[in-house]
Amino acid sequence: MAAPVKLLMLENFIDGKFLPCNSYIDSYDPSTGEVYCKVPNSGKEEVHIRHSVFNMKLAMFHLSSFCHAGDESKVLHVLVKCSTPEIEAAVQAARGAFPGWSSKSPQERAQVLNRLADLLEQSLEELAQAESKDQGKTLTMARTMDIPRAVQNFRFFASSVLHHTTECTQMDHLGCLHYTVRTPVGIAGLISPWNLPLYLLTWKIAPAIAAGNTVIAKPSELTSVTAWMLCKLLDKAGVPPGVINIVFGVGPRAGEALVSHPEVPLISFTGSQPTAERITQLSAPHCKKLSLELGGKNPAIIFEDANLEECIPTTIRSSFANQGEICLCTSRIFVQKSIYSEFLKRFVEATRKWKVGIPSDPSACMGALISKEHLEKVRSYIKRARAEGAHILCGEGVDNLNLPPRNQAGYFMLPTVITDIKDESCCMKEEIFGPVTCVVPFDSEEEVIRRANGVKYGLAATVWSSNVGRIHRVAKKLQSGLVWTNCWLIRELNLPFGGMKSSGIGREGAKDSHDFFTEIKTITVKHE
Ligand code: NAD
Repeated sequence: MAAPVKLLMLENFIDGKFLPCNSYIDSYDPSTGEVYCKVPNSGKEEVHIRHSVFNMKLAMFHLSSFCHAGDESKVLHVLVKCSTPEIEAAVQAARGAFPGWSSKSPQERAQVLNRLADLLEQSLEELAQAESKDQGKTLTMARTMDIPRAVQNFRFFASSVLHHTTECTQMDHLGCLHYTVRTPVGIAGLISPWNLPLYLLTWKIAPAIAAGNTVIAKPSELTSVTAWMLCKLLDKAGVPPGVINIVFGVGPRAGEALVSHPEVPLISFTGSQPTAERITQLSAPHCKKLSLELGGKNPAIIFEDANLEECIPTTIRSSFANQGEICLCTSRIFVQKSIYSEFLKRFVEATRKWKVGIPSDPSACMGALISKEHLEKVRSYIKRARAEGAHILCGEGVDNLNLPPRNQAGYFMLPTVITDIKDESCCMKEEIFGPVTCVVPFDSEEEVIRRANGVKYGLAATVWSSNVGRIHRVAKKLQSGLVWTNCWLIRELNLPFGGMKSSGIGREGAKDSHDFFTEIKTITVKHE
């Protein structure tokens, strides 16, 4: 008989200590579909039942979902409340650590961030293995992008926090000097998604603590392992207890408790638009500072004078990197009519060479999608496109996927190219967040700008042309927080990152993150 599999058990990290939780969620290895880890399910539902004999009408109105007609004589007052003691404990720890941490000099805090970066770098291979197993991405991706970027996030903000300046103006005729100061906001609530787990979590933690805040982070319940591994390095790096607290769990319990907590004045969220809507509602009564980094439906616009030798491999990457699970991935490709057929032929050929394999395979370009539910959702978009009369040129339902027996139940799919699809189709409007891209022709510059802007999102766009004038013109008219021309995903961390329209509110970057994680105050001194 095979020995029982030993599951990895994660624990919350509060006030410098690992603490077990009362309940746990299963976490799956996307490449096999097997449970391999247990993630704390912080928070609990408490059911309060009370008999209510008066104000029957009102009670029935509120309890309509619990009572059947004719039950009026036995009305019960049922309240389902969610309490999250883990968030309460984290708030207490973060509150306690704030005076000490916020009064350190930027140089002292920078030293701690640099030490943490060094420790992460020393564990790069171990972290990359864990990220790849937890998320389904290729080990190559985790090794070359996710973990190096997490290291860089700490080094970058350790450096940039040393270089901020504030404003000063004078009113000589009134004998006044005015200047601004920036102070940390307090306890920062950080909520991150599953596609780039440690990369995006550290992109929030680093600027928040560099500015002197203490933090409570809630990583995605689907990918919590590397955040837990990060906690093991904090003490050695010199992060005082309570400065970084990590509470694991699901959005409606741990996430909402964090967002609703009156002592957490700021929420930095990266995730989907519907969750952002909920977070906005919960934050409104407290007037919280919000940064929302959301989804995209990113266009690539390819003009007839584009260099296809560079454009095709880059657009393959921009469509399918990380299984298409990057908010910046291209999912609508507009190609000028005169080169449409040639582009399509070469693009489909190149897509077929984008190898799907088990995450540890060094020749694999793409691993497994995050979950069974997500795989089904992505596939359902392809079904809908087919039902609408679109053509699936390669990938799902067209080509065969070969996987080792152990990975047959993993969440894999082939990169898929759709064409002959209308701009009004859901595949051209909604974020699919998988390895699926649509290719459509266009005639003129004005037409393609209008069509590219015709969705609710506005995160990233790519423009391919060798005409410099056109590049500047088109880039300026696109409703998009980021425009890459003749390239994709070259990031300059100093400059603002974020989306327009339903892709979010606020920007992140050296100055933008510092502004977000601090409060500004104007001080006037009358000296004459
Ligand atoms: P999601 O919104 O489902 O979850 C994101 C995080 O929010 C998770 O930690 C989740 O537990 C938490 N959450 C869920 N419900 C919550 C609630 N009611 N209250 C508080 N927290 C809650 O998103 P996801 O599926 O994890 O991530 C994919 C999405 O993230 C895509 O839309 C993608 O485009 C977007 N994304 C955006 C960026 C960006 O920088 N703009 C980067 C990466 C991912």
